Amino acid sequence: MSSCNLERLKDKIETFAKFGDTGNGGITRFSLSREALAARAEFVKRCERLGMIITTDDMANVYATISGEEGLPAIISGSHADSVRQGGNYDGILGVLTALEAAETIVTEKIPHRHPITVVIWTNEEGARFEPAMMSSGVITGKFAKDKMLTSKDAEGVTFKEALEVSGYMGEEKNRLSADKYMACVELHIEQGPVLEAEGVDIGVVEGVCGMINYEFTFTGQAGHAGTTPMKYRKDALYAAVKTIQYLHDELDKLDSKLVYTTGKIAAHPNIHTIIPDVVKFTLDARHQDPEVIKQVLEIIKAIPSEVEKCQVSYQEAWSRATVSFYPKYIDYVESNAKKLGYTTKRLYSGPGHDAQFITDVIPTTMIFVPSVGGHSHCEEEYTPLEACLKGANVLLDTILSIDKS
Ligand SMILES: [Zn+2]
Repeated sequence: MSSCNLERLKDKIETFAKFGDTGNGGITRFSLSREALAARAEFVKRCERLGMIITTDDMANVYATISGEEGLPAIISGSHADSVRQGGNYDGILGVLTALEAAETIVTEKIPHRHPITVVIWTNEEGARFEPAMMSSGVITGKFAKDKMLTSKDAEGVTFKEALEVSGYMGEEKNRLSADKYMACVELHIEQGPVLEAEGVDIGVVEGVCGMINYEFTFTGQAGHAGTTPMKYRKDALYAAVKTIQYLHDELDKLDSKLVYTTGKIAAHPNIHTIIPDVVKFTLDARHQDPEVIKQVLEIIKAIPSEVEKCQVSYQEAWSRATVSFYPKYIDYVESNAKKLGYTTKRLYSGPGHDAQFITDVIPTTMIFVPSVGGHSHCEEEYTPLEACLKGANVLLDTILSIDKS
C-alpha cells in the first residue's frame, strides 16, 4: 500500500497556517479575502507544479485535476479553505491539504489510476463573511439560488458578487461539478468534537450528517415595576422561559443518548434590572441521525402548554434539515482501508454541516473524520496532531484508489 509523506504534509499544514495567521495559533481567513486569495494562489502554484490542470467555476470553486483515461469521470476530494474569525488551522483546509498530499503521492510515485483525480476548494463554506454557510456547494447542487447569493453582503457592505468579480477566480458555469464529469466525492474533515480523541480512535467513518431542527420560542407576559408588583400578580416571561427550558431538558434527556440539543440564543425584553421581563425569546437546536428521534423532540415541543406561569407561549420552526446518508459502498471503503492500515475506526454521524452533504445529492459521496484534540474547533486551540492527519491522508489516498478500481 502506498503511503503519504509526513514531511510533505507538515510543510503543507505549516505553509497554509501563514495565510491569515492571527499570531495566537489560529487564523482569520474569510472567504475571498486577501488572505484566502493568497492561500488559493499557493494551492494553484503547488498543483501546477504537479502538472494538474486548474479550472474554476462561476462560484470560484477551484478544481485541480490529474488526468486519467480519456472519457472517464473524475474522483473529487477536498474541502474549504476559508475560516471563521479566529478559527483554527485544520477545519476545512486539512481536507484540501490531505487531498493535495494524496494527489502528490499519486503523481510522484506514479501510482496507476484510471480516473482523473481532482482536488477541490469550495468557496465560502463557513458563511462567516457572506451568509449562508456552504454557499457555493449549495449553489452548484441547486440548494441555493445563485442570484440571491450574489447579493449577500459582508460587514463592510461588499456583496459576494463584488468579491467574486475581483477575486480572479470566477470561472464558467460549465466547469461546475456535475454527475457526467465526476463519479465520486470523498471529503476529509476534522471531527470538531471530542469523541474520537476520547475513545482513542484514529479514523471516524462518517455515515452521514445528522438531521436537525431549530425552533424559536416566544414568551409574552407583562412588564411591571420590580419594586411594586407583588409576586402573585406577576406575568414574568423570563421565569416562564426558564421553566420551559428546564422542562425541555428533563424530557429530552429521556430520549436517545446520541441526541444533542442546545439553547444558544436568548433575549429578554426590556432587559433592564428594575423591570419584569415582558417578552423573552430563546432558540432550541436539536440534532440526531434518526428522523424518529427528531419526531419525538417535536412531540415534546408540542406538549408545552400555551400558557406557562400566566405567560403566553408560542413557537415556530426557524429552519431544519433532514438527515443525509452517505454512499454505503464508499463508507465501507473508508472503514476497510483504515483497518488494513492498522488504524482504529468508529462509525459516526456528523453534527456540523459540510459541503459533502450537498455533493452527495449529485454523485456518490462519503467523508473521513480525524480527531480534534479536546474537541476544540472554530477557535485557535483547534488541533490535530500531524501523525493523526497523516493517518487520515493515507485512508483518503487508499479510498480514492479503491474507488478508482471499483
Ligand atoms: Zn469545515
